[in-house]
Amino acid sequence: MKKLKKIYLVSPRGFCAGVKRAVEVVNLVLQKYKTPIYVRHQIVHNRHVISDFEKKGVIFIEDINEIPDNSIVVFSAHGSSTDLYQIAKRKKLKIFDAVCPLVNKVHVEAKKFYGQGFFIFYIGHKNHPEAIGVLKEVPDKSIVLIKTLEDAKKTIPPQTDKLIVLTQTTLSFDDTKEIINCLKKRFPKLILPPAFDICYATQNRQNAVKELAKKADLVLVIGSKESSNSNRLKEVAEKSGKRAYLINDKSEIKTSWLENVENLGITAGASAPKYLIEEVVNYFKKQGVEIEELTVIKENISFPLPII
Ligand code: SF4
Repeated sequence: MKKLKKIYLVSPRGFCAGVKRAVEVVNLVLQKYKTPIYVRHQIVHNRHVISDFEKKGVIFIEDINEIPDNSIVVFSAHGSSTDLYQIAKRKKLKIFDAVCPLVNKVHVEAKKFYGQGFFIFYIGHKNHPEAIGVLKEVPDKSIVLIKTLEDAKKTIPPQTDKLIVLTQTTLSFDDTKEIINCLKKRFPKLILPPAFDICYATQNRQNAVKELAKKADLVLVIGSKESSNSNRLKEVAEKSGKRAYLINDKSEIKTSWLENVENLGITAGASAPKYLIEEVVNYFKKQGVEIEELTVIKENISFPLPII
């Protein structure tokens, strides 16, 4: 029976520029305004981030109508559709928008291409707030949600001359490519947006996990079940032929998983805070396991903060 000897801690991992910005927006609003501060939807998809903010007086709410009039509200990193702004205006809410600029870019593209008469294939996950936000930006008859390759094979658009494909930012790069190739084959006039919508952080973390899976017998992804990009990291590791588990924090590690594992790979989704990763690493360090940093890609991206 093999024994755990080494941990490969891959980079990039954890917070992306969009999540850093969103968390910082809430922190700045907390510094400047009295609580309660309302946040529409989870600011980022991580349970620890949410409960840390709740302890500071932040109230997370799904239905904007439940927020008392004249309150302070932060809109989450996943983007909000125009109708939410209209409701917020009616309720005289003071809004701070923590939308990631890369998500916002897709909203802008959807409105622009709809205005030019395009029909939009939007590749995304049903019920994910980012997908809901983009789908609501344009009339139903001008956009369709493509969830799977099967959808791409059978969906019939109202016309075939002006078609564009847009995507959720946190999908699997490989699966999305397959879906786009299928659509392109069916509709030769289909165009792609000027820049591919899957964001740099999603892409980098997936590329890094592929390298990690080459070295590790088992991969642990730190992230919450609601986090789309964390789930994709687990899938990418599994598609690379390795067992993988998604964990919120160190308390969810099961020793049975580590049986016969010599090299363990660790990564973290874009919404998982650094301290959760450190806790997992320290848990193994205390057992005398060697830790090696595996830097696959260096990231140097940040987004400016709004004026609070
Ligand atoms: S994962 Fe990408 S799109 Fe989502 S918040 Fe981070 S940088 Fe923005």
